[in-house]
Amino acid sequence: MNITLKILTPLWTGGVDQTCDRLHETGLIGSLRWWYEALVRGLGGYACDPTGEDRCPDKDSNRCVACELFGCTGWARKFRLAMRTTPHIENKAIAAGQSLEIAVIPLRNIEAEEWCLLNATFRLISEYGAIGGKTIFKPSDEPKRQNKFHHLDFGLVTVEFSKESQCQNLDSETIKRYVTDRKWRSGNHKDYSWASLQHFWCVNGRYLARQDDKTSTFNQVLGRKQPKGQGQSLEDQSEPSRWLAGSQQESKKVSSFKSPDKGRTFGFVKPGTVDFDEIKSRLRQVWSDFNPDREFMTGEEVLRKIFT
Ligand SMILES: [Zn+2]
Repeated sequence: MNITLKILTPLWTGGVDQTCDRLHETGLIGSLRWWYEALVRGLGGYACDPTGEDRCPDKDSNRCVACELFGCTGWARKFRLAMRTTPHIENKAIAAGQSLEIAVIPLRNIEAEEWCLLNATFRLISEYGAIGGKTIFKPSDEPKRQNKFHHLDFGLVTVEFSKESQCQNLDSETIKRYVTDRKWRSGNHKDYSWASLQHFWCVNGRYLARQDDKTSTFNQVLGRKQPKGQGQSLEDQSEPSRWLAGSQQESKKVSSFKSPDKGRTFGFVKPGTVDFDEIKSRLRQVWSDFNPDREFMTGEEVLRKIFT
């Protein structure tokens, strides 16, 4: 599978040696895996948290459907990504405005369902999400790992597929049957159950802005109190990593990107706390002409669009 990644906003590489292709591959795969897991969970399957205690394999060497493709201890990843283009780096980031050719190279047999899920993951990132994932939503709680894995931070990209895509457009029922097959390890998602398309929402074409130093529409949607003292300066807007990844020690489940034609805002509701209706009413407060019926999409609807 050959894809073209069009970089719409700079992708931050964490300031390490950015000329290394392996680094970009590692970052991309980390992000791809994160969204793949969210997709699997959204389809009713189980995907372990590969950084958590209960990661695969279990004591009987069983693995979940995500580890089947992306690998875990004792089971190698089934593919690699080859960068066909050397990215142009500017200010320690993969600069916006360029197209990167990437090849997905199978190393072992990849099932038709896996090709479809991989294809769907790229489309999800391209049309509704962003490159990033774990680093978007949990930026500050694993500093050690960030040094270790050098994730690409995040940014908006669009993905174009070459004509001879490996995905045979399997219908959603076939894909659901595959991810929920009893041969895969299953389990309880516990505290990362929110990272599922079932809890995802998005609004394309709108972003959350800072209005002045002290108020931000972003904070309003997060339900966070506005800072009393001085806020971050407006210049920070040009530095999305600082704005979204933030210095505040909390995980944020809302992301918003400003881009001339592809701006978007998306997030995850956390079961038992904030639901879709609450998010809609918060969004209505920050965008006066917002029409939730027309503009607000849930993960369910995204799934229907992706598996037509
Ligand atoms: Zn697993």
